[in-house]
Amino acid sequence: MDSKIYLDNAATTFPKPEIVYSSMDKFLREKCVNAGRGSYDLAQNATNLIDDTRKLLLELINSSLDKKVIFSPSATIAINQILRGLDWDNIKNVYVSPFEHNAIMRTLHSLQKTNEFNINIIPFDNMTFELNKDDLRIMYSRREPDVVIMSHVSNVTGYILPIKECHEVGKQYNPINIVDCAQSLGVVNVDAKSNFSECDFIVFAGHKSLYGPFGVGGFIYLNNKIKLKEVITGGTGSDSTNLEMPNESEVFFEAGSYNVYSIVGLNTALKWIKEVGSENIFNHEKQLTEVLIDGLMEIDGIEIYIPENLDSHIGVVSFNLSDYLAEDVGRILSDEFGIAVRTGHHCAPMIGEFLEGHAINGTVRVSIGYFNNTEDIEAFIEAIKDIGI
Ligand code: PMP
Repeated sequence: MDSKIYLDNAATTFPKPEIVYSSMDKFLREKCVNAGRGSYDLAQNATNLIDDTRKLLLELINSSLDKKVIFSPSATIAINQILRGLDWDNIKNVYVSPFEHNAIMRTLHSLQKTNEFNINIIPFDNMTFELNKDDLRIMYSRREPDVVIMSHVSNVTGYILPIKECHEVGKQYNPINIVDCAQSLGVVNVDAKSNFSECDFIVFAGHKSLYGPFGVGGFIYLNNKIKLKEVITGGTGSDSTNLEMPNESEVFFEAGSYNVYSIVGLNTALKWIKEVGSENIFNHEKQLTEVLIDGLMEIDGIEIYIPENLDSHIGVVSFNLSDYLAEDVGRILSDEFGIAVRTGHHCAPMIGEFLEGHAINGTVRVSIGYFNNTEDIEAFIEAIKDIGI
């Protein structure tokens, strides 16, 4: 059956705000030329739009406007650029949470083939999801952290990780703190002056919680004392006779033509977020999440993977239904009810083991977006009740 209800917003938010479609269409038809490479008005306009988008992102995180925002094709590539750009000669201990995505875990695994370092797992309680600060303190004193990389919101459980608390525990060791905000930026508060004050790099994905299109992600360079090597080299439209990448600005990390088309979509999405208000997007998604959890909790045989304190939770609920494989539930939801969710391990290699129970074989993941409504959630709950009978 064709999907009638879309509940896979953690994969990508869909649909996008109407204005994102119209602005991209208009730009592609009327103004989509190569940016940063010409002095004529259209090229200058494209360059200005890119700079404006950098500014909108910095404003969104309440950062001073002198920080660098680097655009890349996706959060995955941004994470590769940061991790592969680090000076691995001086890194012995990397810390990650058990919630991490393969954009991080496979990149670290790949780096371990040529560099000697330990990957340590930050201790979280697998029933409550609370950070075990005392254990972390002891781990840090035994193996001092050089790099701490973790997601802000888990793409499997919707858990909002305690970024500030983790950073506070490690502060005395001054590690490089990287936060993957692919699932949070635009919806959950990210503030460079408060909860992210110790953060060195923020990663974003335009097509997820920022409600923009595919094709643009990147990272925000909050601490310019940390030098990264360039990972991708090529034309920048500047200093062309120099075979070194020009290293004075963002272009050091931005070789090749900009995806101006997608950046324009992101620009419009950021203005839409500003107009609607991140708190209102959060509150709408939160309210639907509560309806979803309340409904699911009433169904017999549900194993649900959410934090004990639901203040640290938004938008994504993973569960299993007894006697069913997660993938079978996903198939029935799609075939019989026209409901789109995702099943499996969701590119998070450690989550099944962490959550235990049926999650070892994957979960059914429901993820809510701003354009869902209560009827969508109610229809979903009715479908699960029907399957569970
Ligand atoms: N980090 C997290 C937490 C994610 O959920 C995802 C995408 N599922 C990524 C990184 C990678 O994003 P992209 O696929 O857009 O590169």
